[in-house]
Amino acid sequence: MNPNLSIDNIIGQEIPLQYIRRYIQDSSKIPPLLIFHGPSGVGKWSLAERFVYQVLCKKGNGCSNCESCRLFIQNEHPDFIQFPIGKKILIGSDDDKKTDEYSVRWLLSKRIYYTPHLSQYRIILIPDATLFTDEAESALLKTLEEPPLHTKFIFLTEDLYKLKQTIISRGTCIPFQYLSQSSINKINTSGDVINKYFGGSLNPVKAPIEVLQFIESQAVDSISDNIRLLEFENWIKGYKDSHPEWEKDFSYTHFIDAVLLVLLYVYESSELPNKYYYQEKILEAKEYLYKDITNLENFIISRLFMQLAKDI
Ligand SMILES: [Zn+2]
Repeated sequence: MNPNLSIDNIIGQEIPLQYIRRYIQDSSKIPPLLIFHGPSGVGKWSLAERFVYQVLCKKGNGCSNCESCRLFIQNEHPDFIQFPIGKKILIGSDDDKKTDEYSVRWLLSKRIYYTPHLSQYRIILIPDATLFTDEAESALLKTLEEPPLHTKFIFLTEDLYKLKQTIISRGTCIPFQYLSQSSINKINTSGDVINKYFGGSLNPVKAPIEVLQFIESQAVDSISDNIRLLEFENWIKGYKDSHPEWEKDFSYTHFIDAVLLVLLYVYESSELPNKYYYQEKILEAKEYLYKDITNLENFIISRLFMQLAKDI
């Protein structure tokens, strides 16, 4: 087995691993559509890649020697179709002579109904399932429900509720969690000082370390004192008008995101008896932050701080 592509390297995602181990043991149990959902940077992609590698392997164990394993490692496996990252998925042209690669019509007419070239299955990985256009999605629905036996789909998404109910109801949804601090330490051994603020995700916050440390010191002082909490809230809201130009693409939303990640960390490290309640509220705020409603940041912060001030 290629040790780099073993699922045993996935840390801190027990629930997804339980599912995946079962499917690897008996590939006939793999459902037509798997939906991996959860925050970015916690292992959805890594687990999907390792899972595909093992399932496609001629020996079924990711032996690293068979033709399937070799082609997979070279990124040339003919039965693994990975859609491009960050690109809208279109329905594509209905003109048979045009190819429109990585469109739904291309997939249906040129790929999935043919038997796999090499392995027992053909696996289609969609890195962000929110990128289907409505048209493309409708065109794929029937196939998702009853794909040919040799075809399996894996959809990844950060937010399950951004997918249509019609998709969710056809898939087996597998939840990925924010990583615990101890899991992050196991995965990331670089000793980088800002790891602790990543909020259970390995995707770093873009704010400079000084800003994160300043947010942390204010949060530590505030979490058990309502007056200070109010001052902290006002400082956050005032930051919009006075924030320094540390990076061109760093917006107020990113700043609020950084504040929330640091708050998560501070509450996790605290001794507060009901810290899990507060952490849940912070995660809720984080979800709202990216709901594509503009200028919602101050509302989110006001509501969150009201919840944090409760019952101190
Ligand atoms: Zn193999």
